[in-house]
Amino acid sequence: MKWVYRFGDGHAEGRADDSELLGGKGANLAEMCALGLPVPPGLTIITHACRHFHDNNRTLPDDLKDEVRNGIRHMEALTGRTFGDTVHPLLLSVRSGARASMPGMMDTVLNLGLNDLTVEALAGDSGDARFAWDSYRRFIQMYGDVVMGIDHEMFADILEDEKARLDIEQDTDLSVADLRDLVARYKALIEDELGQTFPQSPEVQLWGAIGAVFSSWKNARAITFRALHDIPDTWGTAVSVQAMVFGNLGNSSATGVAFTRNPSTGENALYGEFLVNAQGEDVVAGIRTPQSITEASRLESGSDRPSLEKLMPDVFVEFTTICARLERHYGDMQDIEFTIERSKLWMLQTRTARRTARAAMKAAVDMADEGLISRDDAVARIDPASIDQLLHPTIDPAARRDIIGAGLPASPGAATGAIVFTSEAAVAARKEGRDVILVRVETSPEDIHGMHAARGILTIRGGMTSHAAVVARGMGIPCVSGAGSLRVDQRAETLVARNITLNKGDIITIDGSSGHVLVGAIPMIQPELSGDFGCIMAWADAARRMSVRTNADTPADARAARSFGAEGIGLCRTEHMFFEGTRINVMREMILAENEAGRRAALDQLLPMQRSDFAELFTIMQGMPVTIRLLDPPLHEFLPKTEAEVRDVAANMGLDPVGLAQRIDALHEFNPMLGHRGCRLAISYPEIVEMQARAIFEAAVLAARQTGAPVLIEILVPLVSLRAELDYIKSQIDTVAKAVIGEAGIAIDYLVGTMIELPRAALRAHIIAQAADFFSFGTNDLTQTTFGISRDDAASFIATYQAKGIINRDPFISLDFDGVGELIQLGSERGRQTKPNLKLGICGEHAGDPTSIWFCEETGLDYVSCSPFRVPIARLAAAQAAIAQGRSQSPQHLPQALVSNNGVGVRQ
Ligand code: PEP
Ligand code: MG
Repeated sequence: MKWVYRFGDGHAEGRADDSELLGGKGANLAEMCALGLPVPPGLTIITHACRHFHDNNRTLPDDLKDEVRNGIRHMEALTGRTFGDTVHPLLLSVRSGARASMPGMMDTVLNLGLNDLTVEALAGDSGDARFAWDSYRRFIQMYGDVVMGIDHEMFADILEDEKARLDIEQDTDLSVADLRDLVARYKALIEDELGQTFPQSPEVQLWGAIGAVFSSWKNARAITFRALHDIPDTWGTAVSVQAMVFGNLGNSSATGVAFTRNPSTGENALYGEFLVNAQGEDVVAGIRTPQSITEASRLESGSDRPSLEKLMPDVFVEFTTICARLERHYGDMQDIEFTIERSKLWMLQTRTARRTARAAMKAAVDMADEGLISRDDAVARIDPASIDQLLHPTIDPAARRDIIGAGLPASPGAATGAIVFTSEAAVAARKEGRDVILVRVETSPEDIHGMHAARGILTIRGGMTSHAAVVARGMGIPCVSGAGSLRVDQRAETLVARNITLNKGDIITIDGSSGHVLVGAIPMIQPELSGDFGCIMAWADAARRMSVRTNADTPADARAARSFGAEGIGLCRTEHMFFEGTRINVMREMILAENEAGRRAALDQLLPMQRSDFAELFTIMQGMPVTIRLLDPPLHEFLPKTEAEVRDVAANMGLDPVGLAQRIDALHEFNPMLGHRGCRLAISYPEIVEMQARAIFEAAVLAARQTGAPVLIEILVPLVSLRAELDYIKSQIDTVAKAVIGEAGIAIDYLVGTMIELPRAALRAHIIAQAADFFSFGTNDLTQTTFGISRDDAASFIATYQAKGIINRDPFISLDFDGVGELIQLGSERGRQTKPNLKLGICGEHAGDPTSIWFCEETGLDYVSCSPFRVPIARLAAAQAAIAQGRSQSPQHLPQALVSNNGVGVRQ
């Protein structure tokens, strides 16, 4: 095994596609180096070493030491410096880098190699003692925290204490003598805390740092992040060891981060921030507020501090040229880290930029228009899960706004909630179903669970690339960062604005698109689905093979779904049409009737309600298929529960409440989900089917007459496991159809199909297909019955299964390819053995899940049918699946843990 890959001086042993081995950072450093860009020389220890480390009781492979030593010799040759040398010391950065970006989750050590001797050498060599001692105190602070495990707050407290004692504000005001004192205090802290001295041997420092980076793969926040982003634990991180370049070498030095396009809006303009005389962590930590890179963005932000463009015009030109080249080279928007050491530019990192959904849409459309990528590429690179953000509400511009402060528009969308000041409080509130805004001075990776639980995030410090901003954008949560006019008193739990003090629990609204912070709940408006969004959706529709329908039970759902681009109704759950108002009582009368006459009396009342509902759905969906499913009520959902409800229904039915209560008892089922529901009900009480079929066909006649458009009816029979069940019900439907259509004298086409939602139905699909015009896979029940896990009771243990790694995803959310999926494949194949053109669809919750949609494409289904708000997601995911199929790949945005190397296959 070759453990170490070197790079430097225009040569590299790896490439961008080696991220599996080198991690994203290592792979892109190699790529940039090979492109001839100015990259400090270095080496990358491959991810397998991390696996080895964790599998072998935190020990590293034997031959690694020599390979690293050779790599350092290579750096020494290229830099003319020597690691540990007391004249020209080489200092190193040691950084983590997994295959998938995990920003801020793992550890980094900078300025490694400094000790009491090399610090003097660095001072002499650079001619800048202040810089040398500043680097040394940073190194001890970072190493003490990351490798030796001393809380970084303890170092920060000493720093603050020194600054207070000296009566200075900025770190940069510390003199050499002050920094020497600080170093002595830091070292004393380590001795006090650990009873050991700060290691002076650069070699010991290096192996300590490498071990710490590998260990950080398993720290709590990295584990949480991986769970949230479906990153497998087995991947491991690589470690990049690189020659240090210094952004803190005086005022001709600087460090910064930039995006090749605006990560919030997608606008094609370089967007970034930098700090003069600083090291990388200062920018991300939000300790000092950074300056703009371009003059245009400086003007826009109204800052009076100079841009890089003005301050260092030559470096700026070189930098923008490199940015443009990297974007062209990778064919995607880049997120870049750089350092300027005494006016010399160095590139430290490039990676595909995280961006808001809006920015992703705009950048993809622009890049396709610029000819940088194809339209299919543009469609393929939008994360379907992220477009949820575009469906978020924004603040109604006409609403009265009580703005109490403003910060940076760090992540779009508006959110209202009660103020909380800690991540723990955010998580607790979310559990109680309350909406909260997490308010922090700044966030750190420890806040990840709180940020996830909050509706919105507000920070007082930090720029557009601060932790809060980056993470909130990634999560699609609205965020305002750096609202410096507000003050947070963490202890008193107050948020103080110029003329108001707010307490924990008070309601605020943040607008992540404008940066405004407002008091109270503000009216919101729904998003506009045109522009770039409409363009991507149109391109997606052109690439898509499967149709996308919606599950809609009400006219409002049907209208919303059409506005989102649904191509028909794939499931109308007719039992859901009876939940409202007085309807539920009529439904109860029908269920509780003691004989056919009683049932018919209730059905007579239900008929006109159903007819008008169906007519409205046909009218809204004119010309598109409407799938109406016969009643499938799990009885317990409809039976009266409270005494008052029993009394009500008894009065309506003219029955004695005691007798009715007995009847309810008699109907009690031990397992209603597997009980007298679906087609079983229709077989026991054929008059129900008769009424529903009549309502459907009469409605069709009405709608056809009114609109003049064809009505495409698909009647769906639920919970079938035997062909004879379907035969029985179909013959009744045909009889009613004949009568109604005959009376009306107009042609109405209809199909009768079946749900495939029981394992027996999937297994006997070739026989059932003889009687069915189409199949719709009901994966909710199919998952329930395949696993033998009740869909209503799964929540209490599925999370434990996930936490223990027994399953990697909830099978009720993301299809279990191996088990339930095999039944779908089998059902499809057997059904089409009988009828080669048998129409196949899916209408379980999985139909709105991108991973499951990919499976549907691979299986050759004709359509997916999901809830209205998921229709755009499904359109995009279906297009991506089709594009990927054409390229024999898996789509880019599927959770990596779920995708095996050889096509479809969730490993569980
Ligand atoms: C299903 O079982 O997947 C389905 C769509 O039906 P329901 O959720 O109504 O049981
Ligand atoms: Mg079902």
